[in-house]
Amino acid sequence: MADPRVLRAMSTPLLGQFDPEFTEIMNEVMDLSRFAFQTRNSRAFPVPGTGRAGLEAALTSLVEPGDRVVVAECGRFGLLLIEIAERCGAEVTAVRGEWGRLIDPAAIEAALKGGTTKLVAVVHGETSTGILQPLADIARLAHDHGALLVADCVVTLGGCEVAVDRWAVDVATAGTQKCLSCPSGLAPVTYNAQAEAAIRGRRTKVRSNYLDLGQLADYWSPARFNHHTAPTAMVYGLREALRAVQEEGLEARFARHRLHGDALRAGLDALGVALFGKEPREHRLPFLTPVVVPDGVDELRVRRRLVEDFGVEIGAAFGPLQGKIWRIGTMGYSAQRQFVLVCLAALEHALRGEGHRTSAGAGVDAALAHYASAGPANPDVRDNLGAPGIGRV
Ligand SMILES: *Cc1c(COP(=O)(O)O)cnc(C)c1O
Repeated sequence: MADPRVLRAMSTPLLGQFDPEFTEIMNEVMDLSRFAFQTRNSRAFPVPGTGRAGLEAALTSLVEPGDRVVVAECGRFGLLLIEIAERCGAEVTAVRGEWGRLIDPAAIEAALKGGTTKLVAVVHGETSTGILQPLADIARLAHDHGALLVADCVVTLGGCEVAVDRWAVDVATAGTQKCLSCPSGLAPVTYNAQAEAAIRGRRTKVRSNYLDLGQLADYWSPARFNHHTAPTAMVYGLREALRAVQEEGLEARFARHRLHGDALRAGLDALGVALFGKEPREHRLPFLTPVVVPDGVDELRVRRRLVEDFGVEIGAAFGPLQGKIWRIGTMGYSAQRQFVLVCLAALEHALRGEGHRTSAGAGVDAALAHYASAGPANPDVRDNLGAPGIGRV
């Protein structure tokens, strides 16, 4: 769900992209992006386009034809990285893992030993399976072998820790419509001096004009290099979404995502629905819960009933998991008690309609019990965002 304060900010009058008031907003967006990515990188700005525009900008700006790229793949978004890297002319070495499990850093190390590597690309939060891949070890391995690390943080930014500097991630890219609760349309990216040197030191021209990070960086700098026409309303929206992150504070925001995800999972357990995946809790996304569709249940009919009768949308699945799991998001503005409880009540109703046996109210009761037990232990957690304030564009 989009945060209403973000939508209000987006409907304020447009400014010209070189209007001093707008360039001041751009500076604010860069500062807030550094805050969200936990970085002191001088490069931190949004690429126009959805999440994959950020990934494509990173790869197309770094990779030259023939460069060796190691990609970790254990889900649909790892496959996307492979596909983009191939289109950039990379010699891709894919390190494949089971969907629903982590990639073992030792497998990446083995691939790095296979030849000079320009960069390693990994997905931080694999939205297709709910896996959270630790990045610090992979960054160290990449650097030991003279490679850069590019991380897809599209689903994780604003929902759980993305510590770009502490983990030494060279390039991180995100999106606006996941845990930032802004409509899709911009891809915040940040990269360090090593990545910048690799971009500036290319032998060949970046093949895309629109996604050339060098040109985009010059536009998002005091030089105000004339490139594309800024999607002004999107920039307002991103600024408002990032302000909301800063006002809430990173720790409180991550704790809120954890709290509501845990309450949802307590409720699902009480409904007799199994979680998908074998990894322990610290390697799973707190705000995206993949669940196994119970035997004998028509998964499409359940999702249709949730939308039509309750206005609740949950995710289907991709590739080999299609029809086998649902993915329930509790991201950003959606991470609130009222939405978790409605989702559990709706799911119980729809599952009963399919002949799945549960005791009445069990899911909602278990979630409420979780909130009651977690509440005093987490005084900083705002479990309900309440009525949003007036936007300030
Ligand atoms: C959503 C998502 C993307 C793609 O983003 P779009 O905005 O759909 O282009 C890429 N990677 C991950 C991990 C995602 O969750």
